[in-house]
Amino acid sequence: MIPASFDYIRATSLSQAIGLLQDDPDNTKLLAGGHTLIPTLKLRLASPALLVDLGSIGELQGIDIGDHIRIGALTRHAELLASEKLREALPIFHQTANMIADPQVRNRGTIGGSLANADPSADWPAVIIALKAELELAGPNGRRRVAAKDFFVDIFTTALQADEVLTAIHIARPKPGMNFRYRKIRHPASGYAVVGVAAGVHLNGGVVSEATLGITGASAKAFTPDAAVDFLSGKTLSIDTIERAAILASEHAGCLSDHYASADYRKHLAKTEVARALTSLSGKP
Ligand SMILES: Cc1cc2nc3c(=O)[nH]c(=O)nc-3n(C[C@H](O)[C@H](O)[C@H](O)COP(=O)(O)OP(=O)(O)OC[C@H]3O[C@@H](n4cnc5c(N)ncnc54)[C@H](O)[C@@H]3O)c2cc1C
Repeated sequence: MIPASFDYIRATSLSQAIGLLQDDPDNTKLLAGGHTLIPTLKLRLASPALLVDLGSIGELQGIDIGDHIRIGALTRHAELLASEKLREALPIFHQTANMIADPQVRNRGTIGGSLANADPSADWPAVIIALKAELELAGPNGRRRVAAKDFFVDIFTTALQADEVLTAIHIARPKPGMNFRYRKIRHPASGYAVVGVAAGVHLNGGVVSEATLGITGASAKAFTPDAAVDFLSGKTLSIDTIERAAILASEHAGCLSDHYASADYRKHLAKTEVARALTSLSGKP
């Protein structure tokens, strides 16, 4: 398939990219890794008049690890996989990046493109929700931050305005002893999550002093199952506690249905993946 014709500009600054978006938001598309956008153009599901390539904008690149962690929106999955410093600070990034598709996709696809695209089966949304990250958005009126849990509005829909660019992901360093896991049931063709679960637990003498969960793939948008998180607080991470939390989490899932997985099957997977993620964090076999 061949896309409809379009103009192409490789922006050299964030303000230039925002200005171009502002000129004609309905007919302009930002290009990051292109792994979703280019097939969309080829299938003519979108026909923008202008593509604005973000690839030369320095401030969208890179991983900074200090008192808090900042990941530029244009950071590729492969860079997140390769960063030893990030792996030390938050191993869940290495774990998750390693599960995304294949090396070709990981070498082009960006975390910002994935989040902005808000595919209901993408992996990063669950992770950044569980990490309670904030997303930095820049537009004509300046910058604002949106909590990850509020960023995903609906299927393929986010809090980004038509003239805004997602610039970075900010994550507070978790308290010492807080451990995270990401698990998913992979779609056999694409590798996307049929259901994916990011879980984090801090144990104090075997009792949960802090818990966090993010679920992707199950519903139109990634979400935190609040009832399950609230239930875990103050409990020993026993088999019974895990089972109850997993049921609560799956009850929260709206559950998508498609020709690969029914809503009931996804609900079941949400339960089993939450249980497995929490079990792996409990230190029990
Ligand atoms: C075969 C295949 C398998 C895949 N498997 C997986 C998988 O297992 N797990 C998974 O999570 N993902 C998977 N993906 C998705 C892939 O990893 C990318 O994350 C995804 O394609 C989007 O990132 P991108 O950088 O390619 O964005 P692009 O395709 O360039 O852009 C996607 C959308 O986001 C917008 N956008 C991009 N960057 C910004 C920004 N900074 N600010 C505002 N808007 C922006 C674009 O305008 C466009 O609308 C797969 C993709 C393919 C093709």
